[in-house]
Amino acid sequence: MTNVAQNAQKILEKDLHQKFVFYGKNALKWKRKCTILLPEIAKYRIWEKKGFSSIYEYAAKLAGINNASVNVALWAMRKIEDKPELKRVVEEKGIEIIRPIANIATPETAAFWAEKAMGMSKNTLAAYAKEYKKSELSSPCADSKNYYENQTLFSDLSAEQITMDLSPETAEQLQKLKGQLLQTYQTQIEAKKPIPQENAKRYVPAKIEKYVLAKTNNACAFPGCTKEYKYLHHTWRFALTKTHDPDTLIPLCKAHERMAHYGLIENEDLPPKNWKIKLEANKTTEKWQKVDKWVAEHYNKYNAKNQPPS
Ligand SMILES: [Zn+2]
Repeated sequence: MTNVAQNAQKILEKDLHQKFVFYGKNALKWKRKCTILLPEIAKYRIWEKKGFSSIYEYAAKLAGINNASVNVALWAMRKIEDKPELKRVVEEKGIEIIRPIANIATPETAAFWAEKAMGMSKNTLAAYAKEYKKSELSSPCADSKNYYENQTLFSDLSAEQITMDLSPETAEQLQKLKGQLLQTYQTQIEAKKPIPQENAKRYVPAKIEKYVLAKTNNACAFPGCTKEYKYLHHTWRFALTKTHDPDTLIPLCKAHERMAHYGLIENEDLPPKNWKIKLEANKTTEKWQKVDKWVAEHYNKYNAKNQPPS
């Protein structure tokens, strides 16, 4: 192909793609509007009056909405009936985003959750909601009725427990042994702690990576999270310090890494065992958010081949 023909081809492809994106965006928008109407369509059995065999057939044939989405829509829309802020989120982002919070949002907290849902991906929102539920459980003002309800609802979130029949002596010995083993393990790791690398390049030196991952056994360091780590997060942003410090380089799963960047982790400058989620990002984290924004823009602009530092 000549250069001219190649250029013409490129323009054609770009145009096709742009049209597709534009139509797709509009299709999604209109589909969301249909979704919001579904509870009332169901309530008045409009599908039946119009000769369809079920609401599923009605939604699929008229709007291309599948059965699973109809179920989510009917369930979630009922949950947020009295929460106009969350209805607006559905209109903007679709029904799926509501799923992690439909059971915990109240009319009083609807605006708070709407703001979170607008800014987060579904996975990040789900992880945040999970921490939120836990902090509700441990909060002293949670009344006992709520406490027990939550206990049963979220029992799957608690740590795994093993039950064994042991004599009190054996139990005590095991308990001591467990403490000793953990301490030995930690001492061994600490003994190999590398020194921080200053004026560093973006990639984390293997020695430091190995050390920080050994501390959590490759898992996310957020308290209670057992997911495999996805990012090595600099609690003191790398863009500012240009340092890989083994004490402030923390392995995190994707959702908790996102939360850190949203400024939603309390005590982020302390070791992770002190961390909990914040219900609102506060001013001290604003400077990080600015740095994070700058880093994102910087890397978008230069289209760096490597992953931006986290
Ligand atoms: Zn995590």
